[in-house]
Amino acid sequence: MAKLRINPGNVGRGGRRDPQFAAICEVARRLGKPVRIGVNGGSLDQDLLMSKMEENTERDLGKTSEEIVGECMVLSALRSTELALDCGLTEEQIVISCKMSSPRDLIEVYRDLASRTRQPLHLGLTEAGMGLKGLVWSSSAMSVLLAEGIGDTIRTSLTPRPGGDRREEVHACRELLQALGLRAFAPSVTACPGCGRTTSTTFQELALQVEDFIDANMPEWRSRYEGVEELKLAVMGCVVNGPGESKAADIGISLPGTGEALTCPVYVDGRQFTTLRGTAAELSEQFTRIVGEYVESRYPAKA
Ligand code: SF4
Repeated sequence: MAKLRINPGNVGRGGRRDPQFAAICEVARRLGKPVRIGVNGGSLDQDLLMSKMEENTERDLGKTSEEIVGECMVLSALRSTELALDCGLTEEQIVISCKMSSPRDLIEVYRDLASRTRQPLHLGLTEAGMGLKGLVWSSSAMSVLLAEGIGDTIRTSLTPRPGGDRREEVHACRELLQALGLRAFAPSVTACPGCGRTTSTTFQELALQVEDFIDANMPEWRSRYEGVEELKLAVMGCVVNGPGESKAADIGISLPGTGEALTCPVYVDGRQFTTLRGTAAELSEQFTRIVGEYVESRYPAKA
């Protein structure tokens, strides 16, 4: 058991809530486990919500229901943190989350929360949904917050397809952190999307083969080479952006667009290293060999 999650909205109502919350904190204190105080928009403390709704009406404050829900989530998290500290937990044992299903509301709530507590914050858009929708909605909210320095741990909550791979959530989080330059997990491949300047699918095939090559080699590279996660590769479709992106990467290849000479300059550390020719399979074999040799020579062996 890594840590205990306590949802303040689910530990009872009225006079029973605080004692039951305290009982869980006591278990965590006894076991020396951290807790995550996980407030959720779908199971908010109803007593707190009702009192804030009434206050809004009685004092004619003009707040929207979304604003009141957000305010209550932050209040619930802060009050619960105080209670957990009163129960004997230390600040180092407490992580807070306030998950919501709307990216805009999530951003506002976490900005508010971050300005009012120094506890570590766990980020996540709850009920983000399936596939592309879940990925985009989660990333849109979390990337704004992470770029502002808000958030210490993250989860991308994806609804898997029946029989789907639960690890997609982990891959998504890694890509998000790497995209924002916060942490590198594996070499990245910049690949052009393709456009009217190329009718070939070679850049797509090569980009895929390079990704597969990295996936296959990364377990060994990670154990042997210091810093290999930072490697940047580029696979580009024509001369318009190919040389520029390739020079900006550690290793890049610029494939010929429509009407261009059938040559593929390869750039290493910003300089033209060689020129490749051949079928897609031959290019893949030659290019991945260059990548493998680069990794061996560039990254120091781990002790
Ligand atoms: S590199 Fe060339 S083929 Fe690829 S998107 Fe840019 S212009 Fe189009």
